[in-house]
Amino acid sequence: MYWPRKFEAVDKLHAAGITPADCYFIKDHERLDILIRLCAPFIRPYVRSGELIFIFPYHRAMQPAPLSGYAGVCMTHREKICVIGLSTDTLAGKWGSDYAVSVLLHELCHMRFDDHDQNFIAQYNDLTIRFNQTTGRHIKTQCDISAYRNSFTPYGG
Ligand SMILES: [Zn+2]
Repeated sequence: MYWPRKFEAVDKLHAAGITPADCYFIKDHERLDILIRLCAPFIRPYVRSGELIFIFPYHRAMQPAPLSGYAGVCMTHREKICVIGLSTDTLAGKWGSDYAVSVLLHELCHMRFDDHDQNFIAQYNDLTIRFNQTTGRHIKTQCDISAYRNSFTPYGG
């Protein structure tokens, strides 16, 4: 199974007041599936190393503040073990299909760097360049932090 520790992660999220399992709509999971497949070369190493155990969709309106405002989240619930959440608005392409990819790449970078510092930006740009080379798409490499005000990590990012 691709996410062997999914249920453990869901329990932790519930304990934190986050309800990923509120997404009953199959279309949200299908959209997440498509995005994960698209970004698989970049996600797979984190999964294989055991650092990333779960990616979930969430409805922003059903989350407690401040999570309700965010397009994506990356949370560490144990040392070096992370879960990533993507809002259903992001997955639905509310801000464009490129934005959904960039949010996922952004959250992957938060697995290494909490803050939006130079290390973070360098990794984001590196991932984005490799993504564009792999897929032929043209995601912007510039990491404009103001564009990510809606994306956060509750543990300092
Ligand atoms: Zn961020």
